[in-house]
Amino acid sequence: MKALEERIRRDGILAEGDVLKVDCFLNHLMDVDLFHEMGMEFKRLFADKPINKILTIEASGIGIACVVAECFHVPVLFAKKAQSLNLSGDVYTTKVQSYTHGRVYDVMVSKRFIGPEDHVLIIDDFLANGCALKGLIELVQSAGATVEGIGICIEKGFQPGGKMIRDMGIRLESLAIVESMDPATGEIVFREQQNA
Ligand code: 5GP
Repeated sequence: MKALEERIRRDGILAEGDVLKVDCFLNHLMDVDLFHEMGMEFKRLFADKPINKILTIEASGIGIACVVAECFHVPVLFAKKAQSLNLSGDVYTTKVQSYTHGRVYDVMVSKRFIGPEDHVLIIDDFLANGCALKGLIELVQSAGATVEGIGICIEKGFQPGGKMIRDMGIRLESLAIVESMDPATGEIVFREQQNA
């Protein structure tokens, strides 16, 4: 999506550890007009899918997921980071390794809000190693629901998550794929995409 690529080029900051900072429009200060454009693009890309629920993960996915959900006219469920593991059996849980913080944490969704009748589009802001997505896919599968697809704002194509998800046979659409980024020069190269 050209508007997103241009915004990343203009406002993105290349930080330590292969981190692309886009907190001035995506995951701290949020440009909801851009979010709406992204939402409509996901709607176009997944027009053939019977999606009735959006799933994301706390916290940075929630903003974009809500705007995408508005475009699809469906509710958003977000996986919560659990403080202590709820053993009462009324939640599905899995573990996720955080890319930006390094540590592993438990995430959960209530069994009341997802079940076999659900056709889920997973939405997140970034895709790096794919740990967050792997956790979300596990939650959907535990519930007996169907992953209809995954929509990502920014995929870092030089990290392994995208290949892992596509190799699982899951439809993955990333609105911008960063092929390479060089903190020394600030140069960012995007992958050409046919569907764009
Ligand atoms: P993964 O689980 O795919 O390794 O990482 C995805 C998660 O880590 C995303 O939900 C996002 O919050 C965070 N993340 C990964 N890479 C970046 C990055 O380059 N910049 C920012 N801002 N967040 C990232």
